[in-house]
Amino acid sequence: MAEIYSKKCKCTYCLKETETKRVLSRHIRIKRTDLDGFIHYEGPNVYYYEPVQCIHCRFIFHEAFEKLRPDTRETLETNILPSLPVLPFAATERTAEQALQLYKLCLYTAQVTKQKDSIQAMLGVRLAWLNRLLENKEQEVLWMERAVEKYEALYLDYTDAVRTGIPHDVLLLRIADLYASLERTDDAKQWYSLIFQSQKISDRIKKDAREHWELYRERHSV
Ligand SMILES: [Zn+2]
Repeated sequence: MAEIYSKKCKCTYCLKETETKRVLSRHIRIKRTDLDGFIHYEGPNVYYYEPVQCIHCRFIFHEAFEKLRPDTRETLETNILPSLPVLPFAATERTAEQALQLYKLCLYTAQVTKQKDSIQAMLGVRLAWLNRLLENKEQEVLWMERAVEKYEALYLDYTDAVRTGIPHDVLLLRIADLYASLERTDDAKQWYSLIFQSQKISDRIKKDAREHWELYRERHSV
């Protein structure tokens, strides 16, 4: 496929240069965006190509991963890397099912290497979205619920954007939108209200929140 190219990137584990497929930016065409931020693409799907499998050490990672700590490197080397499958499609074009498999492994390595909860939650949302694409409602809801739980825990333990890994107002909107996607009206309403009432939330986030809540109310006759 001419829309796909090989991009070089550095492996988080072995630090060698590896490569992965990516969609050429001039071929990225957005059809529409769902209320919770999920983008439907016209052509090749950008989400499919986010997880990377290193061609040298078989580690599976996302470019959002942070530097690995010495103790997790040791666990990886002895217990994890030898059991990770070498996925032939990691270096080629991918289907939604293949991408799903890569994301699951990527979330697994994120947990093993103790990546930030914001990264693990982001991968959980991606898993929910891929299941939406595959019209697997049950799995979509399951992953969405896990992700929103993680985001709520982040909200309770929030320190700052760098340490927590997500700006405070973006986090609030994310939680509200995920509850809206889950059609949990009371929870969605509570989180959107929190955004509307807060003095610290940016105007842009407030505007998005208002639009999302209005749309939700129209669709669900709330
Ligand atoms: Zn590597």
